[in-house]
This record gives sequence, structure tokens and C-alpha cells, in this order.
Amino acid sequence: AALETIRNFSIIAHIDHGKSTLADRLIQTTGGLTAREMSEQVLDNMDIEKERGITIKAQTVRLNYTAKDGKSYVLNLMDTPGHVDFAYEVSRSLAACEGALLVVDAAQGVEAQTLANVYQSIEHDHVIIPIINKIDLPAAEPERVCKEIEDVIGLSTENAVMTSAKSGIGIEDVLEAIVRDIPPPKGSIEAPLKAMLVDSWYDPYLGVVILVRVMDGVLKKGQQIVMMAAGTTHLVDRVGCFRPKLEYLDALGPGEIGFITAQIKEVAQTNVGDTITDVRRRTNEPLPGFKTVQPVVFCGLFPTDAADFEKLRDSLGKLRLNDASFSFETESSAALGFGFRCGFLGLLHLEIIQERLTREYDLDLITTAPSVVYKMLLRDGKLLELHNPADMPDPSTIELIEEPWIEAVIYVPDEHLGSILKLCQDRRGIQKNLTYVGGRAQLTYELPLNEVVFDFYDRLKSISRGYASFDYHQIGHREGDLVKMSIMVNAEPVDALSMIVHRGAAEARGRHMCERMKDLIPRHLFKIPIQAAIGGKVIARETIAALRKDVTAKCYGGDASRKRKLLDKQKEGKKRMRQYGNVDIPQEAFIAALRMG
Ligand code: GDP
Ligand code: MG
Repeated sequence: AALETIRNFSIIAHIDHGKSTLADRLIQTTGGLTAREMSEQVLDNMDIEKERGITIKAQTVRLNYTAKDGKSYVLNLMDTPGHVDFAYEVSRSLAACEGALLVVDAAQGVEAQTLANVYQSIEHDHVIIPIINKIDLPAAEPERVCKEIEDVIGLSTENAVMTSAKSGIGIEDVLEAIVRDIPPPKGSIEAPLKAMLVDSWYDPYLGVVILVRVMDGVLKKGQQIVMMAAGTTHLVDRVGCFRPKLEYLDALGPGEIGFITAQIKEVAQTNVGDTITDVRRRTNEPLPGFKTVQPVVFCGLFPTDAADFEKLRDSLGKLRLNDASFSFETESSAALGFGFRCGFLGLLHLEIIQERLTREYDLDLITTAPSVVYKMLLRDGKLLELHNPADMPDPSTIELIEEPWIEAVIYVPDEHLGSILKLCQDRRGIQKNLTYVGGRAQLTYELPLNEVVFDFYDRLKSISRGYASFDYHQIGHREGDLVKMSIMVNAEPVDALSMIVHRGAAEARGRHMCERMKDLIPRHLFKIPIQAAIGGKVIARETIAALRKDVTAKCYGGDASRKRKLLDKQKEGKKRMRQYGNVDIPQEAFIAALRMG
């Protein structure tokens, strides 16, 4: 297509404000799908995404639209992941667009979750079109919401569009606004090929599919290409786009977004953000900002049933085909048997993989405490990278330990500022900046990642009633006074629960862990001591009292079916338990104990 008829845009929104519904409407209105095909939301194609309302992998749909000016336009709608764990993917997707639709619920107004994305969008010099959605709701206050957008984000709402994505109001206006307000891409067809690798995923039929945005030149079938950062060459065997159905094309020109395949077997061979060019005629200006995403949070995944070990290996392998940003290697634990040490981009990423293993692969898993990557200098001069607290060397052999730090930006309404400041302070945060954006505070903090991976995000959300937004990037490792804390159940250390903590926080966390475990481990016929210890020194202790009565005695006399139900329920619970010494620990205890709540 000619440059001036192309529009590349993404949609950004707070969760549930109607991003997917709007996307589907745009696809339907421009004829990409029939009403019947629309019955399922198109862009969110994974169960977990649907339930959590998040988009994990970016998806792009090409739409044809004949505008009121009589011209035909090609609109590329790019869906972006909405979570901080995937910040880098969001950034790459946004870099492939010239504009964004900012969807705001007319009954809710501006909410914090989208702010980070809006600012990213602004950073990419996007033209942003405010979309005031759900105007069909009786509680809709479009004018108030427009004012909020102006006050909080500092964005003019002169060109805002009022819509009801659900009932199809204003969809035509959105399409017209896209054509009118979002600038066409720039690029030269004569220049050497320069394309951005925006995303890649594994398709069982096509192999690795690469989503690209062509900046200059032409990308076509049969072309020999080179991925500049990876240094690998490939032969392009298919070129196409999604409408949202797959359609093959001969070539992609400047400004266009589409996909290619090049007989690549694994997603791990492709790097999001890499520059694709022609082997024989290379661009001499690769795109900026390429980086390899490294797992930052590690944990152990163990099958509850040891017989599932191979199945777990197989399932992890399948998931990895599609997600090169997580890693796994075998690990063995005295408590949990054989499993895998896995690395993730963040906690949500961890939860997504864990959930997919449970749901799609029907595995019953135990997850150990999330840990960050520590760097150690040993007395004998050796350097060590530690992904697993269980591997911590004897403290007397350690010269120094370094932990990763992040810089976090938090937006929070004024009334919650005090509690957020306290949360950051409690997590060893160093305040760098505090300013006001509209009616809310913009906070910049440096924080040890170790303090964030536990439940920082959940705490932030609950303290601010969902109104705070949080975004971070890593700023390198710093020395820290860190110790390994063990948790002992009935005098036996549970290796899966050991963690590395700051010495100053050890006692509080140890006490908390013991209290938690006390609530989480069911009573047994004997007394169970639970202790937290550093080295040989006990720093906290709780005791689970012995169980006296038969639990079924609680059921009224002769109600046999009720009694059976209770026993069945217990049996079911048993499946998810891990026998530890002579103590049964429910799987949930491992996970829940690590949320500091
Ligand atoms: P997303 O999380 O931003 O992708 O939001 P969804 O598109 O999944 O929409 C969230 C909920 O809002 C769904 O139940 C939609 O049916 C509903 N919804 C979306 N747009 C509208 C609208 O214009 N009016 C009303 N009343 N509901 C809407
Ligand atoms: Mg959605």
C-alpha cells in the first residue's frame, strides 16, 4: 500500500474499559469478520488472557477501510500487552505505530493502570485519540471524563470520540478519527530493507511466525534476510498479514506491518526489537533499543506427583516454544523431589506459566519462593550468580553479595500517598522524586527487586484500592547485607521455603512466615513447632497445637452423605498436599506463605 493510505495504531486502556470490545467492533465494521465469528472475542485468544483481562502476546490485525473522503485505507491495529512484566514488548509494539486510541470508560474515568502505557505512547511521539467508551451506561459522565483526561494526562480532548463499543455507537467516528488524526508512516521504498522484529510466536503449522514492521525497503518472499543483532541469516518463505484470518502476500513495503516465516524452529532464535535487513544490501543504521530480555525472577516448579516429572518437562518445553523469555533447568529438592528451576520476567509472568501448566497441561504443581538473581564474590575470588537460595554457599566463604535494584515510578491519588510512601520505605526504598500530575502524586523510588517480587504489586493495589500504577526498570546490582533464612517445620528445614532476605527485615519476615505457616498447615495429631532461623539461630517461632477431635464429629449425628462429602473433600485436599517428614503441608501453604499480605 502507498504510505499515505496506511495508519498504524494500538489501543491502550485500563483493564475492562473496553479495549477488546472496541477492537472486535473495528474488525467487524471493516468487514474482517462476520457477526457469527465475532461471538468470541478475537484478540484475546488464550483463556487466561480472557479471565485476567490481559493481553500476553501482541497481535496485529490489518483492516481495510474506505473513508468518507472516498479513499481506501489500510489500518493496522496492534494489540499490546498491558502489564509491567511485559513492558519491553509493549514498548516494541508501540514503536511500530504512529498513534494510539486511549479508551476510557465514561462511567469510571481515568484510572492509573493505563498511565504508564499512555506515557510510553507519548514517548513514542504517538498521536493519541481519546475514546470515551460505554456512553450507553446510565452512569456515564463523558464531560467529567474528558476533563480528567486533560487534567491528569495533559491530553487535549478536542478530537475525543464518544463510543459504545458494546452497542456499536461511534465506531464509524473512530475509524474516521484514525484516518484523519493519525499520521501515515514515513519510509523509503528505495532504501535498503530495514524492518523491526516486533514479536514472534510458535505456530504448530507454520513454525516460528515473526511479526514485523517495515521501516524502509521491501520485505518479500524468497529474500535472504539477516537479523542484525542475532547475526543469523534466513530465507523468507512466507509473507502475510492477519485480517484477522491469515492471508498471504507477496511483499511488505515501507510502513507496513505483517508477518513472515523463515523456517525458524524456535522462538528463542528470534529477538524482539532486532533489525531485519537484506543480506546483500544491508542497512547501515540498525534500529535503536535492541535488548535481550533476561529472566529476573526465579522459582522452583515441582510436580505434586513425582510421576509427572517427565510430563512437566515436556509441557515446559512446549510452552517455551512460544515464549523465549522464560527458562528452565532441572532441580532436585529434599522436600519436593525432582522439578525445575524456572526463570521469568516477573511475578505475573510466573503466574501465567504456572496457570497454563495447571490448566492446559493438567499438572498439579508446587511453586517455591520467588527469588531474584544475586551476585556473590567469594573469599577465594570466585564470582557466583545465585538463582536459588538453596544453593547459597556457607556465609563464612562469602566476601560480598549484590542484589538487583530497580527504579520504580508510581502514580497514586493523593489520599493514598502516605501509605504508599510507607510501603516503599518498609521495602528499603530510596525516594528520588515526588511531583504532582493532575490530582495525583508521581513518585520515583529506587527499590531492591528482592523486596518487590514478593507481593509489592498486590500490596500497592490493595492499599490504593486499585488506583495506583506502577512501572519499573532495572538499574543494576548493589551490595546488600543479605542472609539466608530457613523455615523449619517440626525441626526439619523445608528447603523449598528458604529465602534470601535483608538482615534488617529477616526477623519480621521470619515471624510473618511462621504465623502464616501456622494458619496454613492443618493440625495434626501431634504438636508442630514452626521456626525461622538464620544459620543455627532461631529468630521466630510458632506452634501448631495438636488436633484432638475427629473432624467428622462436627457433622450432625447420622448424616452419612454429609460425612462422606467431608471425607471426599479431605481426600481431594490430600492430593494437593506434600508429605513433609511426618507433616502434611498443603500446596497453597507454599504459595500463600510467600505473600506477605
Ligand atoms: P478490556 O479489558 O479493556 O479489553 O475490556 P473488554 O472489551 O473485555 O470489556 C470489559 C467489559 O465491558 C465487558 O463486559 C464488555 O462487554 C463491557 N463493555 C465494553 N464496551 C462497552 C460499552 O460500550 N458499553 C457497555 N455497557 N459495556 C461495555
Ligand atoms: Mg481485553
